[in-house]
Amino acid sequence: MNNFLDSILGLTGYSGLNNNYKNKRGGLDMPGTTNIMRFATIMLFAFVLSACDLGTIRGSDTVTITHDPVIAKSNETVTFTATAATESTDYRIRMFVNQSLVQTCYNMPTCIYTGGPYPTHEGTTVSFLAALDTFDCDLLCDKVDGYHHFGITDTNYNYGSLTYIPARVSVGTTERPSGNDTTLLFHMANDYVPNGQTFGDFLDDVQDKIYDVYAAAGIIQYNMDDMDSYVYTRVAGTGSCGTVAWQTNTEVPWRDNDAILHYLTLNDCTDSGLTHFTAEGSYTVDFLHHSGHAVFGLADEGAGATGYFQSTHEPNIWTTEVGCRWEQIIKQRNPDNCAEFEPGWWGIHSGTTVMSNGELTDPWGVEAAERIYWFYNSL
Ligand SMILES: [Zn+2]
Repeated sequence: MNNFLDSILGLTGYSGLNNNYKNKRGGLDMPGTTNIMRFATIMLFAFVLSACDLGTIRGSDTVTITHDPVIAKSNETVTFTATAATESTDYRIRMFVNQSLVQTCYNMPTCIYTGGPYPTHEGTTVSFLAALDTFDCDLLCDKVDGYHHFGITDTNYNYGSLTYIPARVSVGTTERPSGNDTTLLFHMANDYVPNGQTFGDFLDDVQDKIYDVYAAAGIIQYNMDDMDSYVYTRVAGTGSCGTVAWQTNTEVPWRDNDAILHYLTLNDCTDSGLTHFTAEGSYTVDFLHHSGHAVFGLADEGAGATGYFQSTHEPNIWTTEVGCRWEQIIKQRNPDNCAEFEPGWWGIHSGTTVMSNGELTDPWGVEAAERIYWFYNSL
């Protein structure tokens, strides 16, 4: 994967490192060929010489990188943490900030780098990436997470003349409708400041939602590249499942959803158009559950809720028993799993799920998971 990594990283200055890396790996590395050619060649060998040892394939290796704070003032340092999950015992994590190698860790699953302050980036962004290289693996083992970027503000959280600030956005993203990431705009509700909270406290809550909820929630955590998050600097209300500042449609027309975080505990909801929702800034079940509605188009799976609906594509609940049963037959599952969990609404879920509750430990369930996969595939 060297060529692939190098093209992503823009690493023309690191050829020495990569040559070492190639030498260390040895084996099937063929400088000058593309990864596709390598893969095709190896697959050909695999068919002909299936008994031979062709090196390890570990598609499940992962590397992820987080940053803290999610938006930094120009006088603040930023801590980047890369975490690898690999079966390899011979690997390295490299961390890059603004396309420069800043940290290398060998055979340690967690790699930390504290950078900044970044005063020369005020009003623009800082980018970051983690790369996992496994030296005992020939194919499908090297992984990257990034580049993502976030905004650097002045010491009062002003971001040039813009009212929206990248908190974690894939570099090179074109926002929808023309782009293919889903974009969440975080709003601070008007109950933070009266309760002694600051914009910085709100940003801490945003960070928790991005990294402690989304990046920890099944399925979403593997699609974080498609989850772009911005923070809006204008205050929102909590009525009607969130009431955003009137300038929002003019200033951020390309967002997909609005998440209005509030300080006090309220009954939260998602609007019927599935475009905005409210959630406590602190950890509760609401942020993940209402993201299920607004971001993924999932309906409630608990009894006694309001506003059930059947999505057009890969619905998680049905208005008819026959609809639910037909889906199970198509997917070669037992149609008898369909149950009327609420008068007039059918589904196959059982126990607690994210869409009946919302804890990180709750499963999505089969049908909700299919909807989420459909969502990511349709981006
Ligand atoms: Zn709900």
